Amino acid sequence: MIETRTATAPEIRLRAAPGYTVPEPETVWFKALDGHWLNFKHLPPAPERAVDRGPVILVHGAGVRANLLCPPTTLTLPAMLSAAGFDVWMLNWRSSIDLRPIEWNLDDAAVLDYPVAVEVILQQTKRDTLKAFIHCQGSCSFLMSMVAGKLPQVSTVVANSSGLHPLVPWPARIKLPIAMFALAPFVDWFDPQYGLYAPRFWPKVMDWIVRSFHHECSNAVCKHASFVYGFGFPTMWNHDNLDDETHEWLKGEFGAVPVKVFRQIARCVAKGRLVSMGDYPEEVLPREFAERNPELDTTFHLITGADNRTFRPAAMKKTAWFLNSFSGSDRHSFHEFPGYGHMDIFVGKNAHNDVYPYIIAKLSE
Ligand SMILES: [Zn+2]
Repeated sequence: MIETRTATAPEIRLRAAPGYTVPEPETVWFKALDGHWLNFKHLPPAPERAVDRGPVILVHGAGVRANLLCPPTTLTLPAMLSAAGFDVWMLNWRSSIDLRPIEWNLDDAAVLDYPVAVEVILQQTKRDTLKAFIHCQGSCSFLMSMVAGKLPQVSTVVANSSGLHPLVPWPARIKLPIAMFALAPFVDWFDPQYGLYAPRFWPKVMDWIVRSFHHECSNAVCKHASFVYGFGFPTMWNHDNLDDETHEWLKGEFGAVPVKVFRQIARCVAKGRLVSMGDYPEEVLPREFAERNPELDTTFHLITGADNRTFRPAAMKKTAWFLNSFSGSDRHSFHEFPGYGHMDIFVGKNAHNDVYPYIIAKLSE
């Protein structure tokens, strides 16, 4: 039995789906395998739901938090999942800016966080299986944990933007090793908040570079995120997909990511597939994740915005092809959303019409 601590979560405020109420959200704390405290923002199914679809875990990307799934002005994915009958568990894993800062890489999350997180949900819901919506580096590390055989209870996965093959646009492929060579020796963390406050010499250098090249908007955190996470003006979304309040709100949703994570991403990008850093024995976490049959019963749906400038849409297509090549069927799917980028998939002002119904349909299969 895993020890948990539960409290109300008044900071999670969601607009209800038409005809449904939003249940009282709560925070469920638990310890990862190394004792680091993690939590869920838990949203039970709406009382008016027609069916019970069981638990779903939502996994955010690097240096953000569960709250990123709850933009302030729109109908959100958690609220729509709750209305559809899902028991929604938004994980704050070790990269979350809501938690005590700790150095981490994808290996740590795969080994230490997700196996316990999944067990906590199954323990709390008294179910045997669950489903997952995973995003970006949360997707990469969650998939590593799955391929390592640590999450056999996950029956269906919808993965956004990043799969087993992290292919990036060619300017980012050139920029990433240059940034690692020129900047990484001098800082331990990259932080989009340097756009608002750059505390030392090298963060100030980064801010000067960003100010010199990024003139696409007046949101300093948006521009730093564009510099750090790919190549674009902006990188993370199409500005047309965001309303002004959400664009401003995003300023508070990005924080620091250890440089060692970018070293791992650079290694994965160079190889064209996910690899571990070898911090754990091979029997705990393999070195390779996309070289042989992962032998999983899980069904995967790989999605991305067609304008994704963090990872190329071809990356998700390749992972779907790779998984289907072992399945003897076409049960794993790939879908791209025209007009969307990397993250507006779930913070976009029209995502509740354009994207969420697709995600909910795939998680309901
Ligand atoms: Zn912007």
